[in-house]
Amino acid sequence: MKHYDSIVVGSGISGLTLASLLASNGQKVLIVEKSHVIGGSMVRFVKKGVPFDTGFHFTGAFLKNGILKDMLIILGILDKIEPVILSDDNGQVYVCENNNSKYFQPNGVVNFIKKLKKYFPAETEGIDKFFNLAKKIYEDTISLDLIKISQTPKSIDEDYISLQQVLDDLFIDGNIKGILSTFCMCYGVKPSEVSAANHFRVAYGMYDSVVRIKKGGDSFISAFKDRFEKLEIEIKTGCFVKKCLDVEDSIVKRFVLSTGEELSCDQCIFTIHPKAIVDVLPKEHLSKAFLSRVESFEPAAGFFTLYGIVESKDADFIPSIVSIFPTNDLNVLLDPGNTESSALVIMAGYETVNGKTYKVLNLMEPSFSEHVEEWKNSTTGHRPKAYYEYKKKRIENIKERLFKYEPSYKNTFKMMGSASILTYRDYLNSYECSAYGIKQKMEQFNLFGKLPLRNIYACGQSSILPGVVGAMMSSFIIGRSIVGRDKYDAFIKTRLNR
Ligand SMILES: Cc1cc2nc3c(=O)[nH]c(=O)nc-3n(C[C@H](O)[C@H](O)[C@H](O)COP(=O)(O)OP(=O)(O)OC[C@H]3O[C@@H](n4cnc5c(N)ncnc54)[C@H](O)[C@@H]3O)c2cc1C
Repeated sequence: MKHYDSIVVGSGISGLTLASLLASNGQKVLIVEKSHVIGGSMVRFVKKGVPFDTGFHFTGAFLKNGILKDMLIILGILDKIEPVILSDDNGQVYVCENNNSKYFQPNGVVNFIKKLKKYFPAETEGIDKFFNLAKKIYEDTISLDLIKISQTPKSIDEDYISLQQVLDDLFIDGNIKGILSTFCMCYGVKPSEVSAANHFRVAYGMYDSVVRIKKGGDSFISAFKDRFEKLEIEIKTGCFVKKCLDVEDSIVKRFVLSTGEELSCDQCIFTIHPKAIVDVLPKEHLSKAFLSRVESFEPAAGFFTLYGIVESKDADFIPSIVSIFPTNDLNVLLDPGNTESSALVIMAGYETVNGKTYKVLNLMEPSFSEHVEEWKNSTTGHRPKAYYEYKKKRIENIKERLFKYEPSYKNTFKMMGSASILTYRDYLNSYECSAYGIKQKMEQFNLFGKLPLRNIYACGQSSILPGVVGAMMSSFIIGRSIVGRDKYDAFIKTRLNR
Protein backbone atom coordinates (compact mmCIF):
# COMPACT_ATOMS: atom_id res chain seq x y z
CA MET A 1 0.00 0.00 0.00
CA LYS A 2 1.54 3.30 -1.10
CA HIS A 3 2.02 5.86 1.68
CA TYR A 4 1.89 9.66 1.49
CA ASP A 5 2.49 12.28 4.13
CA SER A 6 -0.71 14.02 3.01
CA ILE A 7 -3.59 13.19 0.72
CA VAL A 8 -5.52 16.30 -0.33
CA VAL A 9 -9.04 15.57 -1.54
CA GLY A 10 -10.34 18.09 -4.10
CA SER A 11 -8.29 20.35 -6.34
CA GLY A 12 -10.22 23.62 -6.18
CA ILE A 13 -8.29 26.69 -5.08
CA SER A 14 -8.24 25.33 -1.52
CA GLY A 15 -6.77 21.94 -2.49
CA LEU A 16 -4.24 23.52 -4.86
CA THR A 17 -3.12 25.97 -2.18
CA LEU A 18 -2.81 23.36 0.55
CA ALA A 19 -0.98 20.81 -1.61
CA SER A 20 1.50 23.49 -2.62
CA LEU A 21 2.08 24.65 0.98
CA LEU A 22 2.60 21.12 2.29
CA ALA A 23 4.94 20.07 -0.52
CA SER A 24 6.91 23.32 -0.15
CA ASN A 25 7.51 22.21 3.43
CA GLY A 26 8.95 18.86 2.39
CA GLN A 27 5.85 16.67 2.37
CA LYS A 28 5.07 13.91 -0.10
CA VAL A 29 1.60 14.93 -1.33
CA LEU A 30 -1.11 13.31 -3.42
CA ILE A 31 -4.16 15.19 -4.77
CA VAL A 32 -7.30 13.14 -5.39
CA GLU A 33 -9.77 14.91 -7.69
CA LYS A 34 -13.17 13.60 -8.81
CA SER A 35 -13.22 15.59 -12.03
CA HIS A 36 -10.99 14.80 -15.01
CA VAL A 37 -9.25 18.16 -14.68
CA ILE A 38 -7.88 20.04 -11.69
CA GLY A 39 -8.98 23.50 -10.55
CA GLY A 40 -12.60 23.05 -9.36
CA SER A 41 -14.51 26.33 -9.57
CA MET A 42 -11.45 28.11 -11.02
CA VAL A 43 -11.68 26.22 -14.32
CA ARG A 44 -12.89 28.30 -17.26
CA PHE A 45 -14.77 26.87 -20.23
CA VAL A 46 -14.54 27.79 -23.89
CA LYS A 47 -17.49 28.24 -26.27
CA LYS A 48 -16.73 28.87 -29.94
CA GLY A 49 -13.25 29.99 -29.05
CA VAL A 50 -14.34 32.43 -26.32
CA PRO A 51 -13.27 31.74 -22.71
CA PHE A 52 -15.86 32.20 -19.94
CA ASP A 53 -15.47 32.20 -16.16
CA THR A 54 -17.16 29.53 -14.09
CA GLY A 55 -16.73 30.24 -10.37
CA PHE A 56 -14.23 33.07 -10.30
CA HIS A 57 -14.99 36.50 -11.73
CA PHE A 58 -13.37 39.02 -9.44
CA THR A 59 -11.75 39.38 -6.05
CA GLY A 60 -10.74 41.92 -3.44
CA ALA A 61 -7.69 41.93 -1.17
CA PHE A 62 -5.28 42.10 -4.08
CA LEU A 63 -3.98 45.63 -4.21
CA LYS A 64 -1.44 47.12 -1.79
CA ASN A 65 -0.72 44.55 0.90
CA GLY A 66 -3.96 42.61 0.51
CA ILE A 67 -3.97 39.10 1.95
CA LEU A 68 -4.48 37.54 -1.48
CA LYS A 69 -1.33 39.19 -2.76
CA ASP A 70 0.60 37.91 0.28
CA MET A 71 -0.73 34.38 -0.20
CA LEU A 72 0.35 34.42 -3.85
CA ILE A 73 3.84 35.60 -2.84
CA ILE A 74 4.17 32.73 -0.36
CA LEU A 75 2.94 30.24 -2.96
CA GLY A 76 5.52 31.60 -5.39
CA ILE A 77 2.99 32.44 -8.13
CA LEU A 78 2.36 36.18 -7.80
CA ASP A 79 4.22 36.92 -11.03
CA LYS A 80 1.77 34.69 -12.94
CA ILE A 81 -1.36 36.44 -11.68
CA GLU A 82 -2.06 39.70 -13.46
CA PRO A 83 -4.77 41.98 -12.01
CA VAL A 84 -7.09 43.94 -14.26
CA ILE A 85 -8.04 47.06 -12.33
CA LEU A 86 -11.48 48.45 -13.05
CA SER A 87 -11.95 52.09 -13.97
CA ASP A 88 -12.33 54.53 -11.07
CA ASP A 89 -15.24 56.29 -12.72
CA ASN A 90 -17.49 53.51 -13.90
CA GLY A 91 -15.86 50.17 -13.09
CA GLN A 92 -18.18 49.31 -10.20
CA VAL A 93 -21.76 50.44 -10.48
CA TYR A 94 -24.84 50.00 -8.27
CA VAL A 95 -28.23 50.59 -9.83
CA CYS A 96 -31.26 50.83 -7.54
CA GLU A 97 -34.16 50.26 -9.91
CA ASN A 98 -36.79 51.01 -7.27
CA ASN A 99 -35.94 54.71 -7.27
CA ASN A 100 -33.97 54.92 -10.49
CA SER A 101 -30.62 55.86 -8.98
CA LYS A 102 -27.08 54.93 -9.91
CA TYR A 103 -23.95 54.94 -7.72
CA PHE A 104 -20.27 54.39 -8.53
CA GLN A 105 -17.58 52.81 -6.36
CA PRO A 106 -14.08 54.15 -7.02
CA ASN A 107 -10.93 52.22 -6.09
CA GLY A 108 -9.55 52.69 -2.57
CA VAL A 109 -11.66 52.62 0.55
CA VAL A 110 -10.89 56.28 1.34
CA ASN A 111 -12.22 57.33 -2.07
CA PHE A 112 -15.27 55.12 -1.63
CA ILE A 113 -16.04 56.73 1.72
CA LYS A 114 -15.71 60.21 0.19
CA LYS A 115 -18.02 59.29 -2.66
CA LEU A 116 -20.63 57.77 -0.33
CA LYS A 117 -20.62 60.96 1.76
CA LYS A 118 -21.31 62.96 -1.43
CA TYR A 119 -24.19 60.67 -2.37
CA PHE A 120 -25.61 60.48 1.16
CA PRO A 121 -24.59 63.68 3.06
CA ALA A 122 -27.14 63.00 5.82
CA GLU A 123 -25.43 59.65 6.56
CA THR A 124 -21.90 60.99 7.08
CA GLU A 125 -21.64 59.95 10.72
CA GLY A 126 -22.93 56.44 10.01
CA ILE A 127 -20.52 56.06 7.08
CA ASP A 128 -17.54 56.88 9.31
CA LYS A 129 -18.71 54.48 12.03
CA PHE A 130 -19.40 51.71 9.51
CA PHE A 131 -15.99 51.87 7.88
CA ASN A 132 -14.14 52.31 11.18
CA LEU A 133 -15.82 49.16 12.45
CA ALA A 134 -15.13 47.31 9.19
CA LYS A 135 -11.44 48.26 9.29
CA LYS A 136 -11.08 47.37 12.96
CA ILE A 137 -12.62 43.92 12.49
CA TYR A 138 -10.58 43.26 9.36
CA GLU A 139 -7.34 44.24 11.09
CA ASP A 140 -8.19 42.40 14.34
CA THR A 141 -8.99 39.11 12.63
CA ILE A 142 -5.96 36.97 13.28
CA SER A 143 -6.63 34.68 10.34
CA LEU A 144 -6.39 37.67 8.01
CA ASP A 145 -2.78 38.18 9.01
CA LEU A 146 -0.54 35.51 7.55
CA ILE A 147 2.19 36.08 10.10
CA LYS A 148 -0.18 35.65 13.05
CA ILE A 149 -2.42 33.10 11.35
CA SER A 150 -3.92 30.71 13.89
CA GLN A 151 -6.19 27.73 13.83
CA THR A 152 -8.67 29.01 16.35
CA PRO A 153 -9.70 32.53 15.39
CA LYS A 154 -11.03 34.31 18.49
CA SER A 155 -14.65 35.41 18.33
CA ILE A 156 -15.61 39.05 18.90
CA ASP A 157 -18.89 40.85 19.73
CA GLU A 158 -19.65 41.44 16.05
CA ASP A 159 -19.67 37.67 15.47
CA TYR A 160 -23.01 37.75 17.28
CA ILE A 161 -24.53 40.85 15.65
CA SER A 162 -26.02 40.63 12.16
CA LEU A 163 -24.94 42.90 9.35
CA GLN A 164 -28.56 44.04 9.11
CA GLN A 165 -28.51 45.15 12.73
CA VAL A 166 -25.40 47.27 12.11
CA LEU A 167 -26.92 48.80 8.96
CA ASP A 168 -30.19 49.59 10.74
CA ASP A 169 -28.35 51.13 13.70
CA LEU A 170 -26.21 53.39 11.50
CA PHE A 171 -28.32 54.36 8.48
CA ILE A 172 -31.77 55.58 7.49
CA ASP A 173 -31.46 55.61 3.70
CA GLY A 174 -32.32 52.23 2.14
CA ASN A 175 -30.02 52.75 -0.84
CA ILE A 176 -26.87 53.06 1.26
CA LYS A 177 -27.87 49.93 3.17
CA GLY A 178 -28.30 48.17 -0.17
CA ILE A 179 -24.96 49.34 -1.53
CA LEU A 180 -23.07 48.34 1.62
CA SER A 181 -24.67 44.89 1.65
CA THR A 182 -24.08 44.20 -2.06
CA PHE A 183 -21.11 41.98 -1.27
CA CYS A 184 -23.50 39.60 0.55
CA MET A 185 -23.82 38.23 -2.99
CA CYS A 186 -20.15 37.23 -2.69
CA TYR A 187 -21.05 34.64 -0.08
CA GLY A 188 -24.76 34.19 -0.80
CA VAL A 189 -26.26 34.90 2.63
CA LYS A 190 -28.82 37.53 3.69
CA PRO A 191 -27.66 40.55 5.76
CA SER A 192 -30.03 39.42 8.52
CA GLU A 193 -28.34 35.99 8.75
CA VAL A 194 -24.65 36.79 8.43
CA SER A 195 -22.65 38.23 11.30
CA ALA A 196 -21.34 41.75 10.80
CA ALA A 197 -17.86 40.38 11.54
CA ASN A 198 -17.92 37.78 8.76
CA HIS A 199 -19.35 40.28 6.32
CA PHE A 200 -16.50 42.68 6.99
CA ARG A 201 -13.92 39.89 6.80
CA VAL A 202 -15.08 39.07 3.28
CA ALA A 203 -16.16 42.50 2.09
CA TYR A 204 -13.56 44.91 3.45
CA GLY A 205 -11.02 43.92 0.79
CA MET A 206 -13.71 44.53 -1.84
CA TYR A 207 -14.82 47.88 -0.38
CA ASP A 208 -11.18 48.81 -0.92
CA SER A 209 -10.84 47.55 -4.47
CA VAL A 210 -12.18 44.93 -6.79
CA VAL A 211 -9.96 43.42 -9.46
CA ARG A 212 -10.49 40.88 -12.20
CA ILE A 213 -7.60 38.63 -13.15
CA LYS A 214 -6.28 38.27 -16.69
CA LYS A 215 -7.26 34.79 -17.96
CA GLY A 216 -9.37 34.37 -14.77
CA GLY A 217 -9.10 31.16 -12.77
CA ASP A 218 -7.10 29.47 -15.54
CA SER A 219 -4.12 31.68 -14.72
CA PHE A 220 -4.12 30.31 -11.15
CA ILE A 221 -4.39 26.72 -12.34
CA SER A 222 -1.55 27.00 -14.82
CA ALA A 223 0.64 28.74 -12.21
CA PHE A 224 -0.02 25.90 -9.74
CA LYS A 225 0.68 23.26 -12.39
CA ASP A 226 4.14 24.76 -12.95
CA ARG A 227 4.81 24.71 -9.20
CA PHE A 228 3.53 21.14 -8.81
CA GLU A 229 6.07 19.80 -11.26
CA LYS A 230 8.89 21.30 -9.22
CA LEU A 231 7.33 20.16 -5.94
CA GLU A 232 6.73 16.61 -7.26
CA ILE A 233 3.09 16.62 -6.20
CA GLU A 234 1.20 13.60 -7.51
CA ILE A 235 -2.31 14.02 -8.91
CA LYS A 236 -5.00 11.41 -9.49
CA THR A 237 -7.98 12.77 -11.42
CA GLY A 238 -11.29 11.08 -12.18
CA CYS A 239 -11.44 9.38 -8.79
CA PHE A 240 -12.40 9.95 -5.18
CA VAL A 241 -11.93 8.50 -1.71
CA LYS A 242 -14.65 5.88 -1.40
CA LYS A 243 -13.98 4.45 2.04
CA CYS A 244 -11.94 5.19 5.14
CA LEU A 245 -11.13 1.84 6.82
CA ASP A 246 -9.14 0.24 9.65
CA VAL A 247 -9.68 2.90 12.30
CA GLU A 248 -7.35 2.45 15.26
CA ASP A 249 -7.17 4.92 18.12
CA SER A 250 -9.34 7.30 16.01
CA ILE A 251 -6.84 7.17 13.16
CA VAL A 252 -7.83 5.96 9.68
CA LYS A 253 -5.16 3.51 8.46
CA ARG A 254 -6.51 2.64 4.99
CA PHE A 255 -8.08 4.82 2.30
CA VAL A 256 -9.85 3.09 -0.59
CA LEU A 257 -10.22 5.05 -3.82
CA SER A 258 -13.08 4.64 -6.32
CA THR A 259 -10.56 2.94 -8.59
CA GLY A 260 -10.04 0.23 -5.96
CA GLU A 261 -6.52 1.41 -5.15
CA GLU A 262 -5.65 1.43 -1.43
CA LEU A 263 -3.45 4.07 0.16
CA SER A 264 -2.27 5.19 3.57
CA CYS A 265 -1.22 8.63 4.78
CA ASP A 266 -0.32 10.60 7.88
CA GLN A 267 -3.24 12.93 7.19
CA CYS A 268 -6.03 13.23 4.68
CA ILE A 269 -7.43 16.73 4.16
CA PHE A 270 -10.84 17.05 2.56
CA THR A 271 -11.43 20.38 0.80
CA ILE A 272 -14.94 19.39 -0.29
CA HIS A 273 -18.43 20.02 1.08
CA PRO A 274 -18.82 18.98 4.76
CA LYS A 275 -21.71 16.66 3.94
CA ALA A 276 -19.62 14.97 1.24
CA ILE A 277 -16.83 14.47 3.79
CA VAL A 278 -19.17 12.85 6.31
CA ASP A 279 -20.52 10.57 3.56
CA VAL A 280 -17.17 8.75 3.35
CA LEU A 281 -16.27 8.67 7.04
CA PRO A 282 -17.09 5.56 9.11
CA LYS A 283 -20.25 6.64 10.95
CA GLU A 284 -19.60 4.39 13.96
CA HIS A 285 -16.69 6.67 14.86
CA LEU A 286 -18.75 9.86 14.76
CA SER A 287 -21.08 11.12 17.47
CA LYS A 288 -24.76 11.83 16.85
CA ALA A 289 -24.16 15.47 17.80
CA PHE A 290 -21.42 15.78 15.18
CA LEU A 291 -23.60 14.21 12.49
CA SER A 292 -26.61 16.37 13.26
CA ARG A 293 -24.43 19.50 13.30
CA VAL A 294 -23.25 18.75 9.76
CA GLU A 295 -26.77 17.81 8.69
CA SER A 296 -28.03 21.22 9.81
CA PHE A 297 -25.76 23.18 7.45
CA GLU A 298 -27.81 24.96 4.79
CA PRO A 299 -26.58 25.88 1.31
CA ALA A 300 -25.70 29.47 0.46
CA ALA A 301 -27.15 31.02 -2.71
CA GLY A 302 -26.07 29.95 -6.18
CA PHE A 303 -26.43 31.69 -9.55
CA PHE A 304 -28.32 31.43 -12.79
CA THR A 305 -25.92 32.68 -15.45
CA LEU A 306 -26.13 33.82 -19.04
CA TYR A 307 -22.90 33.94 -21.03
CA GLY A 308 -22.45 35.98 -24.18
CA ILE A 309 -20.44 38.41 -26.23
CA VAL A 310 -21.09 41.86 -27.64
CA GLU A 311 -20.49 41.92 -31.37
CA SER A 312 -20.04 45.53 -32.29
CA LYS A 313 -17.20 47.94 -32.68
CA ASP A 314 -19.44 50.81 -31.61
CA ALA A 315 -21.25 49.31 -28.62
CA ASP A 316 -20.65 51.26 -25.47
CA PHE A 317 -18.52 48.60 -23.74
CA ILE A 318 -16.69 49.27 -20.47
CA PRO A 319 -15.02 46.50 -18.40
CA SER A 320 -17.17 46.73 -15.29
CA ILE A 321 -19.28 45.06 -12.63
CA VAL A 322 -22.79 46.44 -12.53
CA SER A 323 -25.18 45.32 -9.77
CA ILE A 324 -28.81 46.00 -10.55
CA PHE A 325 -31.24 45.86 -7.64
CA PRO A 326 -35.02 45.93 -8.09
CA THR A 327 -35.20 46.62 -4.35
CA ASN A 328 -32.39 47.80 -2.11
CA ASP A 329 -33.22 45.14 0.50
CA LEU A 330 -30.73 42.28 -0.01
CA ASN A 331 -32.76 40.18 2.45
CA VAL A 332 -35.47 39.99 -0.21
CA LEU A 333 -33.05 39.45 -3.09
CA LEU A 334 -31.26 36.60 -1.30
CA ASP A 335 -34.48 34.91 -0.21
CA PRO A 336 -35.20 31.64 -2.04
CA GLY A 337 -38.91 32.47 -1.80
CA ASN A 338 -38.59 35.81 -3.63
CA THR A 339 -41.02 35.70 -6.54
CA GLU A 340 -40.41 39.27 -7.66
CA SER A 341 -37.55 40.45 -9.83
CA SER A 342 -34.09 39.33 -8.68
CA ALA A 343 -30.72 41.06 -8.44
CA LEU A 344 -28.76 41.02 -11.69
CA VAL A 345 -24.99 41.36 -11.86
CA ILE A 346 -23.55 42.27 -15.26
CA MET A 347 -19.86 41.56 -15.59
CA ALA A 348 -18.20 42.96 -18.67
CA GLY A 349 -14.61 42.30 -19.69
CA TYR A 350 -12.28 41.87 -22.62
CA GLU A 351 -10.80 38.47 -23.48
CA THR A 352 -8.06 38.13 -26.06
CA VAL A 353 -7.43 34.75 -27.70
CA ASN A 354 -4.93 34.23 -30.51
CA GLY A 355 -4.83 37.95 -31.23
CA LYS A 356 -8.62 38.34 -31.39
CA THR A 357 -10.34 40.39 -28.67
CA TYR A 358 -13.86 39.58 -27.49
CA LYS A 359 -16.23 41.73 -25.43
CA VAL A 360 -17.51 39.20 -22.95
CA LEU A 361 -20.58 39.46 -20.70
CA ASN A 362 -21.45 37.23 -17.74
CA LEU A 363 -24.96 37.96 -16.47
CA MET A 364 -25.76 36.46 -13.08
CA GLU A 365 -28.90 36.29 -10.94
CA PRO A 366 -28.99 34.67 -7.48
CA SER A 367 -30.68 31.29 -7.59
CA PHE A 368 -31.55 28.57 -5.08
CA SER A 369 -32.13 24.83 -4.94
CA GLU A 370 -35.84 25.59 -4.43
CA HIS A 371 -35.97 26.91 -8.02
CA VAL A 372 -34.95 23.57 -9.50
CA GLU A 373 -36.24 21.19 -6.86
CA GLU A 374 -38.36 19.15 -9.30
CA TRP A 375 -35.36 18.38 -11.54
CA LYS A 376 -32.76 17.77 -8.85
CA ASN A 377 -32.42 14.08 -9.69
CA SER A 378 -31.68 14.76 -13.35
CA THR A 379 -28.20 15.23 -14.79
CA THR A 380 -26.77 17.49 -17.50
CA GLY A 381 -27.95 16.44 -20.94
CA HIS A 382 -30.78 14.31 -19.51
CA ARG A 383 -33.25 16.83 -18.17
CA PRO A 384 -36.99 17.01 -18.91
CA LYS A 385 -38.64 19.60 -21.17
CA ALA A 386 -40.00 21.60 -18.24
CA TYR A 387 -36.46 22.33 -17.10
CA TYR A 388 -35.55 23.81 -20.48
CA GLU A 389 -38.71 25.91 -20.35
CA TYR A 390 -37.65 27.20 -16.93
CA LYS A 391 -34.25 28.10 -18.35
CA LYS A 392 -35.75 29.78 -21.42
CA LYS A 393 -37.96 31.96 -19.25
CA ARG A 394 -35.04 33.06 -17.07
CA ILE A 395 -32.86 33.71 -20.12
CA GLU A 396 -35.52 35.92 -21.74
CA ASN A 397 -36.00 37.81 -18.51
CA ILE A 398 -32.26 38.43 -18.07
CA LYS A 399 -31.92 39.60 -21.67
CA GLU A 400 -34.83 42.01 -21.23
CA ARG A 401 -33.18 43.50 -18.15
CA LEU A 402 -29.83 43.73 -19.90
CA PHE A 403 -31.34 45.62 -22.84
CA LYS A 404 -33.21 47.91 -20.48
CA TYR A 405 -29.91 48.75 -18.77
CA GLU A 406 -27.91 49.09 -22.01
CA PRO A 407 -30.19 49.47 -25.08
CA SER A 408 -27.22 49.34 -27.48
CA TYR A 409 -26.79 45.62 -26.61
CA LYS A 410 -30.19 44.80 -28.12
CA ASN A 411 -28.71 44.36 -31.57
CA THR A 412 -25.21 43.35 -30.56
CA PHE A 413 -25.49 40.83 -27.73
CA LYS A 414 -24.97 37.21 -28.75
CA MET A 415 -25.80 34.59 -26.18
CA MET A 416 -23.24 31.76 -26.02
CA GLY A 417 -24.55 29.64 -23.17
CA SER A 418 -26.39 29.51 -19.87
CA ALA A 419 -26.07 27.69 -16.57
CA SER A 420 -28.59 26.92 -13.86
CA ILE A 421 -27.48 25.91 -10.40
CA LEU A 422 -27.91 22.29 -11.48
CA THR A 423 -25.44 22.90 -14.32
CA TYR A 424 -22.91 24.20 -11.79
CA ARG A 425 -23.64 21.33 -9.42
CA ASP A 426 -22.94 18.74 -12.11
CA TYR A 427 -19.88 20.40 -13.66
CA LEU A 428 -18.25 21.41 -10.39
CA ASN A 429 -19.13 18.27 -8.38
CA SER A 430 -20.59 20.55 -5.75
CA TYR A 431 -22.62 18.68 -3.18
CA GLU A 432 -25.55 21.06 -3.22
CA CYS A 433 -26.38 23.76 -5.71
CA SER A 434 -24.70 26.59 -3.84
CA ALA A 435 -21.87 28.74 -5.23
CA TYR A 436 -20.19 29.09 -1.84
CA GLY A 437 -20.78 25.83 0.01
CA ILE A 438 -22.62 26.19 3.29
CA LYS A 439 -24.26 29.38 4.56
CA GLN A 440 -22.12 31.52 6.84
CA LYS A 441 -24.62 31.87 9.66
CA MET A 442 -24.31 33.46 13.04
CA GLU A 443 -23.68 31.05 15.90
CA GLN A 444 -22.97 28.13 13.57
CA PHE A 445 -19.84 26.06 14.04
CA ASN A 446 -18.57 25.08 10.62
CA LEU A 447 -16.45 22.02 9.95
CA PHE A 448 -12.84 23.10 10.04
CA GLY A 449 -9.51 21.62 11.09
CA LYS A 450 -9.06 18.24 12.68
CA LEU A 451 -12.24 16.14 12.73
CA PRO A 452 -13.14 13.47 15.34
CA LEU A 453 -10.95 11.06 13.35
CA ARG A 454 -7.54 12.41 14.18
CA ASN A 455 -5.81 12.17 10.80
CA ILE A 456 -8.78 13.64 8.91
CA TYR A 457 -9.06 17.39 8.35
CA ALA A 458 -11.62 19.69 6.73
CA CYS A 459 -10.92 22.92 4.93
CA GLY A 460 -12.14 24.80 1.84
CA GLN A 461 -14.81 27.40 1.20
CA SER A 462 -17.28 26.01 3.76
CA SER A 463 -14.87 26.14 6.67
CA ILE A 464 -14.09 29.72 7.67
CA LEU A 465 -14.99 32.12 4.87
CA PRO A 466 -16.18 31.52 1.32
CA GLY A 467 -14.85 32.84 -1.98
CA VAL A 468 -11.42 32.30 -3.39
CA VAL A 469 -9.71 34.29 -0.64
CA GLY A 470 -11.63 32.52 2.15
CA ALA A 471 -10.93 29.07 0.69
CA MET A 472 -7.21 29.85 0.35
CA MET A 473 -7.04 31.23 3.90
CA SER A 474 -8.51 28.02 5.28
CA SER A 475 -5.68 26.11 3.59
CA PHE A 476 -3.07 28.44 5.05
CA ILE A 477 -4.45 27.82 8.53
CA ILE A 478 -4.58 24.03 8.11
CA GLY A 479 -1.10 24.11 6.59
CA ARG A 480 0.26 25.58 9.78
CA SER A 481 -1.38 23.00 11.96
CA ILE A 482 0.01 20.12 9.84
CA VAL A 483 3.52 21.43 9.23
CA GLY A 484 4.00 22.66 12.79
CA ARG A 485 3.95 26.20 14.03
CA ASP A 486 7.67 27.04 14.19
CA LYS A 487 8.65 25.54 10.85
CA TYR A 488 5.63 27.08 9.11
CA ASP A 489 6.09 30.55 10.64
CA ALA A 490 9.73 30.56 9.52
CA PHE A 491 8.65 29.48 6.03
CA ILE A 492 6.03 32.25 5.76
CA LYS A 493 8.35 34.93 7.08
CA THR A 494 11.10 33.93 4.65
CA ARG A 495 8.74 33.93 1.68
CA LEU A 496 7.26 37.30 2.68
CA ASN A 497 10.67 38.68 3.50
CA ARG A 498 9.39 40.09 6.82
C1 LIG B 1 -21.06 30.76 -10.26
C2 LIG B 1 -20.03 31.09 -9.21
C3 LIG B 1 -19.45 32.34 -9.19
C4 LIG B 1 -18.47 32.64 -8.23
N1 LIG B 1 -17.84 33.85 -8.28
C5 LIG B 1 -16.80 34.09 -7.44
C6 LIG B 1 -16.01 35.27 -7.58
O1 LIG B 1 -16.21 36.07 -8.49
N2 LIG B 1 -15.01 35.49 -6.66
C7 LIG B 1 -14.74 34.60 -5.65
O2 LIG B 1 -13.83 34.85 -4.85
N3 LIG B 1 -15.47 33.48 -5.51
C8 LIG B 1 -16.47 33.19 -6.39
N4 LIG B 1 -17.17 32.03 -6.28
C9 LIG B 1 -16.88 31.13 -5.14
C10 LIG B 1 -15.54 30.43 -5.35
O3 LIG B 1 -15.51 29.83 -6.61
C11 LIG B 1 -15.36 29.38 -4.27
O4 LIG B 1 -15.59 29.92 -2.99
C12 LIG B 1 -13.97 28.74 -4.26
O5 LIG B 1 -13.46 28.59 -5.55
C13 LIG B 1 -14.09 27.38 -3.59
O6 LIG B 1 -12.86 26.70 -3.62
P1 LIG B 1 -12.74 25.27 -2.95
O7 LIG B 1 -11.40 24.77 -3.25
O8 LIG B 1 -13.16 25.35 -1.53
O9 LIG B 1 -13.87 24.38 -3.66
P2 LIG B 1 -14.11 23.96 -5.18
O10 LIG B 1 -13.59 24.95 -6.14
O11 LIG B 1 -15.56 23.61 -5.24
O12 LIG B 1 -13.24 22.65 -5.34
C14 LIG B 1 -13.62 21.42 -4.82
C15 LIG B 1 -13.01 20.36 -5.72
O13 LIG B 1 -13.27 19.09 -5.14
C16 LIG B 1 -13.70 18.19 -6.15
N5 LIG B 1 -14.50 17.17 -5.49
C17 LIG B 1 -15.78 17.24 -5.06
N6 LIG B 1 -16.11 16.10 -4.43
C18 LIG B 1 -15.01 15.31 -4.46
C19 LIG B 1 -14.71 14.02 -3.96
N7 LIG B 1 -15.62 13.30 -3.29
N8 LIG B 1 -13.47 13.50 -4.16
C20 LIG B 1 -12.53 14.20 -4.84
N9 LIG B 1 -12.76 15.44 -5.34
C21 LIG B 1 -13.98 15.98 -5.14
C22 LIG B 1 -14.44 19.05 -7.14
O14 LIG B 1 -14.49 18.43 -8.43
C23 LIG B 1 -13.59 20.32 -7.13
O15 LIG B 1 -12.55 20.24 -8.05
C24 LIG B 1 -18.14 31.69 -7.25
C25 LIG B 1 -18.72 30.41 -7.29
C26 LIG B 1 -19.62 30.10 -8.28
C27 LIG B 1 -20.18 28.70 -8.35
